[in-house]
Amino acid sequence: MAPRTWLSIDGLHAGDVVGILEDGTATLPLTEQAVMVQLPSGLQLVDDDEVTGWTVVCSCTSSWDAPRWARNFDGGQADPERRVDGLRAGHPCNPSVTVAEALWKAWKAHSDREVAVTELHAARRAHEETARRLANAVAASRAIELQLSWAEIGSAVGTSKQAAHERWGRVKTGAGQ
Ligand SMILES: [Zn+2]
Repeated sequence: MAPRTWLSIDGLHAGDVVGILEDGTATLPLTEQAVMVQLPSGLQLVDDDEVTGWTVVCSCTSSWDAPRWARNFDGGQADPERRVDGLRAGHPCNPSVTVAEALWKAWKAHSDREVAVTELHAARRAHEETARRLANAVAASRAIELQLSWAEIGSAVGTSKQAAHERWGRVKTGAGQ
């Protein structure tokens, strides 16, 4: 599986597989091309054999525990328990399918949760906006010149006269906000 950017459905999360160097530095997203790291002095090319592991990063700012896999230069099978995968020196450092899928699953779990939270916030904002609009409409309909009854207001908004009065009875006429 060639690493590529994964995108959440709301477009706010972009996940990329990166390499980890011996000192813990993360590389730029791994591609089929050269492995690079971003240093203060600029981009620097890294030899594939300097990559000692893999992890996944997300474009968002939320912190989450991305799994880190270590590279076993002696080769051997992927060990999901210890998060170690074998890849001898002298090979392109792209992760194996096992590692890439594990990283994708972790990133997907992270982004799915964040997407759900983002939607909750958006729904709450929409809900509050609607409540403000309704209160303003009730206040306007209770204005001196109109004086709609609580029964009329209740009927219009699909509730009883009593419920309408209880909910908006203390809303000052003409109170804009
Ligand atoms: Zn994210």
